[in-house]
This record gives sequence, structure tokens and C-alpha cells, in this order.
Amino acid sequence: MKGMIPITRITVKQLDELFREDIRKRAIKEAGGCERCLSPKYDKIKENGDIFPAWKQLDTAHFIPRGNYHIRWDEDNAAGLCGGCHRAIDDDFTKKDEFVKTRLGDRFELLQGRQHQTGKVDRNAIYLYLLDQLKKLDREGTRGRISHKTTTIKSKSRGWKNEAD
Ligand SMILES: [Zn+2]
Repeated sequence: MKGMIPITRITVKQLDELFREDIRKRAIKEAGGCERCLSPKYDKIKENGDIFPAWKQLDTAHFIPRGNYHIRWDEDNAAGLCGGCHRAIDDDFTKKDEFVKTRLGDRFELLQGRQHQTGKVDRNAIYLYLLDQLKKLDREGTRGRISHKTTTIKSKSRGWKNEAD
């Protein structure tokens, strides 16, 4: 790093925020909503005209607890889930285990291995990586379908996938 202007130290909170956005936008792009039960999420228009985006209606659920900093911001260690599924996998280890193993397949062992890494976590590198991922996701489009009346979303929705076709 000789000769480079030092970057301000990236905080855990900054990385958490970027990571949560990355995971949830990825869920909207790949599943249109919750990555476990596949219930769709829609961009909602509030009374004042503001948009409440679909991705913000999901939780970021970690598989291996985020107290381990080597995998706290690992994209294989989290999914965008609805509140119900988040509680379900956190309350029931069997459900969590089943979901994670189905989702990751062979990558589950690799994820488990990464939690035992030693050395310092390079927050700057993770920061730049997550920014890049978000840029890609935003370019590919992660906005949910728009429903015009929040109150009628449930009765009128026929599933995100059908509407997208
Ligand atoms: Zn769900």
C-alpha cells in the first residue's frame, strides 16, 4: 500500500448495511421474493408516492452465526427470507440444516471450511467487492413488480413469476 492514500477504515456497520442490501436484492432478482417459501415481494407505492422496494421487505438470514467475521459477509452464508421463514430456520435447526444443504449442496462444506480461516479480515476488500456486486445487481434490475395499491396487493397478486411472463 506504499504511496497510496489510506482509505478510511471501513466499519462493521457499513459492511453489514451493504451486505444486507446485496443479499436481499439478489433474492429479488433470483426468486422474486423469499428464497425459501418463494412468496413474492412487490415494490409498494406509499400514500405519499414514495416507493417501498420489494427487497426491503425481506430479512437477511445468516446460516452460520455472524459472530464469525470470516463468513459474516460471505454470500453463501445468507439468504433473503420473509419474516416467517427467517423465524422458522432460526427456531428449528433441522429446518435450517435442510434449507442450507439443499441450497448450497457441495458449497456447504466449503462455507464451513471458510469459518476456520485465520488472519485478519480484509474489510476494504470486502467493501469493494460488495459495492461491485451491488452495481451489477442494480444494472441487471432488482426492482420488484409494482403494485399500485398496498391494500389490494394480496387479493390481486397472482405470483411474481406469472406476472413477469
Ligand atoms: Zn418465506
